[in-house]
Amino acid sequence: MSIIAPGSEVSRAWGQVLFIFLPVAAVFSILLMILTANWLQRRISWRDEIRRAINARQFRVHYQPVYNNQLQRCTGAEALMRWTLPNGDVIRPDIFISAAEAEGMIVPLTRHLIELIVEDVQAWQVEPGFHLAINVAAEHLQHAEFVSDMLAFAARVEHKQFTVTLELTERSLIKDGDEVALKLEQLRAAGMKVAIDDFGTGHCSLSYLQTFSLDYLKIDRGFINAIESLGGETPVLDAIINLSLKLRLKVLGEGVETALQLLYLQQRGVVFIQGYYYARPMDNATLITWLKEKGPRPIHAEKDDHSVQRPG
Ligand code: C2E
Ligand code: CA
Ligand code: CA
Repeated sequence: MSIIAPGSEVSRAWGQVLFIFLPVAAVFSILLMILTANWLQRRISWRDEIRRAINARQFRVHYQPVYNNQLQRCTGAEALMRWTLPNGDVIRPDIFISAAEAEGMIVPLTRHLIELIVEDVQAWQVEPGFHLAINVAAEHLQHAEFVSDMLAFAARVEHKQFTVTLELTERSLIKDGDEVALKLEQLRAAGMKVAIDDFGTGHCSLSYLQTFSLDYLKIDRGFINAIESLGGETPVLDAIINLSLKLRLKVLGEGVETALQLLYLQQRGVVFIQGYYYARPMDNATLITWLKEKGPRPIHAEKDDHSVQRPG
């Protein structure tokens, strides 16, 4: 069966359709163009902003001391990047680090971090073997010049006799596993240590702990936060601690904010402690004084002091 309509009727119907849909389509196209332009602009501006900030020396490094429960003193520090704009506004590291990762800027940014660290450490007076930890992004690990970048860094601070520790996230181990394992072995052979950061929050299969040659597990502060009492059970945290000890990996508890958390970890054999309870990240000048005054001293956690202590 077919329906025959006069030509004028057909063109009138088409006219109506076009009358309604064309403007709608035009509005949508314009909206889409605006959104795309906006997105491109933001992409370009993050990349440009980071590049500009590097040149204008807006980045600084803060260092957070790490406490060794066995030696009862500070035996290392983690370098954490800071970005302050000329107007005094601070951009949070998790924001600019993910932007740098997304914009292909993390390698130049990490190279810049290394430059800043090399300048800072000239004034440090620490014993040989002091751990200097830097955070390494997954994208940098995949980079062809990763090993040479790290070796060059180690060479530039060689006179300080640091133990350079590379903090990687579980995500870094997933892609190109064999190649990454090889790179890490090369760097460990050169005397560096490898730590898995934020352990327990990523998608790492436990078998990775055997596949890769690692030295430290940094237990994410989410698990430390779960500690409620000394006698209480935190099954996941306890399992991570036991597993690490069995695998002969050294364990570091991150984000330790209270005496209770410190005691809990000490009682379970966790050797390394990092968090506001011991020391906050601080600028280079503050760190140098801190290392002299507080670095060699033990911390004593009072059993009945379960409050959040924030020493300055
Ligand atoms: P992260 O590597 O896990 O660093 C530890 C973060 O926890 C730091 O935050 C530190 O200031 C904070 N923190 C330390 N102790 C405590 C505590 O007791 N309580 C609480 N609530 N927080 C504590 P920050 O400096 O804001 O850095 C955030 C993240 O940004 C870092 O997490 C790291 O993933 C990344 N990041 C920072 N600097 C760099 C860098 O130079 N390179 C790379 N690739 N990533 C960096
Ligand atoms: Ca870290
Ligand atoms: Ca961490």
